[in-house]
Amino acid sequence: MIQYQNLILNNNQFINICNQTLNCNSFLFESEDNLFLENFSYCFAKYLFCVNNKKPCNNCLYCQKVERLVLADLIVYPKTNKNILVEDVKDFIDNANLMPIESDKKVFIFNNFSTASIQVQNKLLKILEEPPKNTYIILNVNNINKVLPTILSRCKRLRLNKLNNKELISNLEWKSLDENSKSIILNIADGNLEKAENYSSNPDFLQISKEVVDTLSNLKDSKQLLKYSTKFNKSKKSFEYALEIFECIFRDVLLVRVGKESLLKNSFLLPQIKLYANALTADASYKLIKKINEIKKQLEFNCNYVLLVDNFLLYYLEVKFLCNKK
Ligand SMILES: [Zn+2]
Repeated sequence: MIQYQNLILNNNQFINICNQTLNCNSFLFESEDNLFLENFSYCFAKYLFCVNNKKPCNNCLYCQKVERLVLADLIVYPKTNKNILVEDVKDFIDNANLMPIESDKKVFIFNNFSTASIQVQNKLLKILEEPPKNTYIILNVNNINKVLPTILSRCKRLRLNKLNNKELISNLEWKSLDENSKSIILNIADGNLEKAENYSSNPDFLQISKEVVDTLSNLKDSKQLLKYSTKFNKSKKSFEYALEIFECIFRDVLLVRVGKESLLKNSFLLPQIKLYANALTADASYKLIKKINEIKKQLEFNCNYVLLVDNFLLYYLEVKFLCNKK
């Protein structure tokens, strides 16, 4: 099923790219937001197959079949794995040379294309150079650095813009979230639909965001450490959420400290951010952001997250203490 269609069909970039399908068959869409990226390309496929004047009409047989991803002439990779494998590309090459079955064209979508190895990418070059008639190829990429320049030069490239808060607010289900939680989510998601959906539907995330605010307001010395560390060390995931939220707030503190508060994405949180800014200098917030990024790396290497929680909170106290001494 295609999600967030209204959002995509009204998107200027979507309308623009649809107008460029006459002279181009190979497309590369780029974004860190996988959810938006995939649904964007499914809507694009719908546009390509639709037989009515106002495309996509959402009514014709083709629109309906694309909607359910059951049209035989729309083939989505990877088929079995999360990554694009050599089997996928072999299947694609075999398939691309066959006639369409249900319509007059074929559309191939490669999700997660950045996971394809260099050998696998090389196998695609020839067919991207001269795609068979009425064949469209769409590569979805979340890390452009992993794609060969020779692939890039053969495709019409489109870097999807981040969504704005207005778009996220009107398209997500927010359940009964208060404005404060919404603000934190929008701030951290930073225009990323996948993140915003993930956070807004996750009760743990919302709880953690309250704990972070509580910690910044009330953690004063190392005797309280145990009380606060238990809030974040329930699971690795909850600590990861906490780090995202801490980082987001320290970035805002930094902006306030260097007199750039007009750049704050969430003016709603300003009074709170100003309070934290009183306790932390610009240099301190910078150090804390750096520390958070170090810890994120350590988490990737599976370091003991319970120890890292203590380590982070102690560092925070130390940095804050040094600010107060000055
Ligand atoms: Zn249609």
